Order: sequence, then C-alpha cells, then structure tokens
Amino acid sequence: MSLIAKNLQVVKEKMQRSAQIVARDVATIELLAVSKTFPAQAVIEAVQAGQTCFGENYLQEAVAKILEVDSLLAQQQTACQLVWHFIGPIQSNKTRPIAEHFAWVHSVDRLKIAQRLSEQRPEQLAPLNVCVQVNVSGEASKSGVPPEDVLELMLAIQALPKLRLRGLMCVPEASENPEQQKAAFAHMRSLFEQCQAQIPVLDTLSMGMSGDMEAAIAEGSTMIRIGSAIFGKRNYAN
Ligand SMILES: *Cc1c(COP(=O)(O)O)cnc(C)c1O
Repeated sequence: MSLIAKNLQVVKEKMQRSAQIVARDVATIELLAVSKTFPAQAVIEAVQAGQTCFGENYLQEAVAKILEVDSLLAQQQTACQLVWHFIGPIQSNKTRPIAEHFAWVHSVDRLKIAQRLSEQRPEQLAPLNVCVQVNVSGEASKSGVPPEDVLELMLAIQALPKLRLRGLMCVPEASENPEQQKAAFAHMRSLFEQCQAQIPVLDTLSMGMSGDMEAAIAEGSTMIRIGSAIFGKRNYAN
C-alpha cells in the first residue's frame, strides 16, 4: 500500500471516530484531499486509493495539474470522474480559468467575484457550486467576509444563474487548543443555521483541516479539507 493510501485510511478512521463521539453519521461528511504543492503523481496515488475530490489553492499550478492528471488517467484507462474544488484566494482578473476548470469554489468573498464566475461559467457545464468564505476569527490578514455581511452576500449570489450556492467555508485562526478551535466552528455553525433559515437549499459547511478536523466535525462540518495528513508536509519551494 502506498504511503498516501495509508494516510487516507488513517484520516478516514479519524473521521469515523470524530463523528462517532458526537453521534453523527460519517457518511454526511465529505473528505476533500488538498493536493496543493504536490505533483500530479500524488493525486494519482490518492485516486488509486479511491479518493475522488481534490482541493487546490493556486490557479496556475492547479490548472496544469488537472490537465496532467486527466492525461495520466486516460493513459492508464482509468475511468473516473474527479471533482476539483478551488479553495484559494481569488483575484477578479483570474476568475475565467476557475469557472472553466473547477466544479466547486469555496473562497467566494465578494459579489463581483461571484458575478464574474457566473458570467464565465461555460454554457455546457453544470452550474458552479459555491461557498462563501467567512473571516470567522476577524483576522485583518485573512480573506473572507465578516460574519455580519454573510447573509446579504448569500442572497445576492443566490440570484446568479450559473452558480449553485451551497454554503459556507472558513479557515479559523490556527490554534492547538481544541476549545478555541470549537468556539470558531460553533460560531460558523450558528451562522450557517441562520443562513439556512433564509436559504433552505444550503447543505455545505466546509471547515476542518489536518490540525482541527475533530473539532470541526463536532461542530457540524459537512466537508473537511485535508492536505498534510494525506500528502505529507508541504514544501512551498516546489
Ligand atoms: C492548505 C489548505 C488546507 C489543508 O491544510 P492542511 O493543514 O494541510 O490539512 C485546507 N484549506 C485551505 C483553504 C488550505 O489553504
């Protein structure tokens, strides 16, 4: 078994245990494998271990990797439909390749970005799934919408024709303290429930990374984004 396959198994066991602690069905939580900085071959290893959903942060790297993975899978005659999620910061002049190459975007934080993604989504593709990124810890350096502005942005995005609004995403301030982790995720959960009361179709709460997945699952995450626990330590020099 490859190291990536082993790591995936360990992550899934941890998901299972974390769900069990709070009496949740693990099937209601999706695992997104965050492959940023890792080569196409690492993605292929994860695919061979059954993983189909992948997250990327850097557009140029991501588009090259998506094309390379497609061609490697075609060579191996592996027929599987991968689902690519864009989870990184978005510049407004870079929306077109995102609209063309991804099935999901988690990091929408202003209406202008959403409008461009909707306009640029190719006609033949299904609507682009989007989450609004929330700056839940109120850090000046972090992207995301302040919690008090989330609902208004969600209502505006909901009206856009080529987008399918799914929910909220956050990257809280890093903390190793489980209580602190839970506090940020609990805030997200309550915000999500307030939005759901107005927009009942919302079904996605994208939160939890390698260091805080247990707390995120305890507070209702429906999609965890796991990088280093699957692929290893990142080397940004690559
Ligand atoms: C890198 C990244 C992740 C994965 O982080 P790990 O700590 O390696 O699991 C998840 N979400 C976002 C937005 C990221 O940028």
